[in-house]
Amino acid sequence: MRGLLPFYRGLCTLSNRQARRKAGIVGSRCGFCGTQSNSKAQPSFGLLFDIDGVLVRGKMPIPAAKKAFEKLVDSQGQFVVPVVFVTNAGNCLRQTKADQLSHILGVPITQEQVIMSHSPLRMLKKYHDKCVLVSGQGPVLEIAKNLGFQNVVSIDMLRESFPLLDMVDHNRRPKLPSNLVRNLPKVEVVILFGEPIRWETNLQLIIDILLTNGNLSSAHQTQKMPHLPLAERLNTDKITGEDLKYEALMGKPSELTYHFAEYLIRCQAVQKQWKLPVTSLYAIGDNLMTDIYGANLYNRYLEERVARKNPKAVAKMAAATGSTTAVPQDEETDNLWESELALPSATSCKSILVCTGVYNPNAEVPTDANHCIKETVFHGHRDFRFDPALVEPGHIVKDVAEAVDVIFEQEKFVPQF
Ligand SMILES: [Mg+2]
Repeated sequence: MRGLLPFYRGLCTLSNRQARRKAGIVGSRCGFCGTQSNSKAQPSFGLLFDIDGVLVRGKMPIPAAKKAFEKLVDSQGQFVVPVVFVTNAGNCLRQTKADQLSHILGVPITQEQVIMSHSPLRMLKKYHDKCVLVSGQGPVLEIAKNLGFQNVVSIDMLRESFPLLDMVDHNRRPKLPSNLVRNLPKVEVVILFGEPIRWETNLQLIIDILLTNGNLSSAHQTQKMPHLPLAERLNTDKITGEDLKYEALMGKPSELTYHFAEYLIRCQAVQKQWKLPVTSLYAIGDNLMTDIYGANLYNRYLEERVARKNPKAVAKMAAATGSTTAVPQDEETDNLWESELALPSATSCKSILVCTGVYNPNAEVPTDANHCIKETVFHGHRDFRFDPALVEPGHIVKDVAEAVDVIFEQEKFVPQF
């Protein structure tokens, strides 16, 4: 797995000219053979790093992380390939996480490189001017405003206005009759950032909001009608026995998170004026059920997109499956993120599993979601169909430094510092 080929050092040959093209070498011409000579290698791939179990364990950096990032950053602290960090954490701002990572890795990380579970919400622009109720931990109001929501209400603001609704904890019940503290606007969207600290309060008030169609001053709605739009971070529990429908599910392994990561990687390449389109993504993580599953799920989406554009592949697929109704060639799914982010340039997303985190090589891969939820922890959502084929990693490596070696070798990429 190790040992990179110095194939474009020295004089050029026909074969290494081809290899140079693949590796994205651009620059001045070689005096001997007339081809482009050594210049900065440009990447046609991007990297997605999970954080916990890959780069840090708790607050302690994993030693291989520093080693890995020495290969990814030049002497000016500039990344030589597009890199994003994808975490399911949702209780802080991207800038806060970027600052933590800069400190841990010893390289400057910007907030544009960080994807928290809630980050894709900045694409839900149609809700940015609506009144949004947010639930979770940490600076939820600040996070929501940072994502573009202009009219945000917190659970605490609801509690203050309707203290009698928060009845479970007797000590928090008002001792004296109270008037409305403020006149809150009608809630139009509910966003669940993650687990709240006081479950009972959040559950009660969210259920009340859903049942009153966003207006706690009004009576409970008894007739059936569609409830308010709900956006949830994956990995949280259900809030009611009612049939809840989600407008967006975020965090790994949801496709939305990977689509947003691909978009940020594309932006980085444009910013660096790298000419090659980013066609390959590599997702490095320690959790089969989130990192590997999510990367493979996104890879499946990318492959299906490629197949739809390729008539031969569509015909081959139809022949292989015996189907007479192959996927239409020009079909583009009408996903909310596709309209916001433009279409991906990536055609594959490969998963790489590291052994520095939660992965246990001796544990068996579950065969169905129910088993999975009971026996291990499937971080998928109730509305997320589990597919055992997607927990198979593309590579298993010791640590993140080895993961970077494997990727550079696959891409025949030798960074020029
Ligand atoms: Mg992890």
